Amino acid sequence: MKIKLALKKFKKYIREHLFNVKWRCNWCGEEIFSERWFCPECESKLPIIDKAYCNHCGRELKVSDEYCSTCKGKMISIDKGRSVFSYQEPIDKHIKDLKYFGKRYLVEMFGEYLSNVYFKNYFNADLIVFIPMTKKGKKERGFNQAELLARELSKRVGVPVGDVLEKTKQTTRQAKLGREERLKNLQGTIKVKDKKAVKDKVLLIVDDVTTTGATGEVVAERLKKSGAKEVYLLTVASVPPKEKY
Ligand SMILES: [Zn+2]
Ligand SMILES: [Zn+2]
Repeated sequence: MKIKLALKKFKKYIREHLFNVKWRCNWCGEEIFSERWFCPECESKLPIIDKAYCNHCGRELKVSDEYCSTCKGKMISIDKGRSVFSYQEPIDKHIKDLKYFGKRYLVEMFGEYLSNVYFKNYFNADLIVFIPMTKKGKKERGFNQAELLARELSKRVGVPVGDVLEKTKQTTRQAKLGREERLKNLQGTIKVKDKKAVKDKVLLIVDDVTTTGATGEVVAERLKKSGAKEVYLLTVASVPPKEKY
């Protein structure tokens, strides 16, 4: 029985680490012969955000503008926000594979794209922080994907990670809520547990997905109240805002 289980684990390891990682395209599954994550055709079709995006929350815009309709004209605590991909195929699936199926190799893949955006936008942060989970939430999942992404990015850009935030209360599921409801839902659930570490620092918040931008905004506000000099946001993917044109 033990041998069977070990064999199963070994096969899974081989499959994930040799065949799915860099020998096959992570979208179409075609065999590839370079040290890339995708075949050239799929790579050219990735939903990378590089043309029009909101400078505050980083979400993709249909037409070029400085801010999205949510951020425009508001006091926003995020000084500069970016997101690598639009939350669509195949990235949406990859994020779910990481969060719910524990495919850790995707952290490495996302880390590469995050670091590209980091350098391209001259983030120059003093400290990288991540959106926290409650202790219970982290225990249930076994890891906090935002923390894994922050640590991977840290290795690649040479900026330390600070475990400075704490989530004290589980928020009711946010997926179906609008931005204002999310803001209300989050207020008071996130705390800065190490104020000294953030004072007068340029901070970069890392997370997996920007949905409405509310989470990043609440965290940035808390960090600013604790004396942070500037707060940036960098996420793997973001859901485009519903713009009225
Ligand atoms: Zn492909
Ligand atoms: Zn925005």
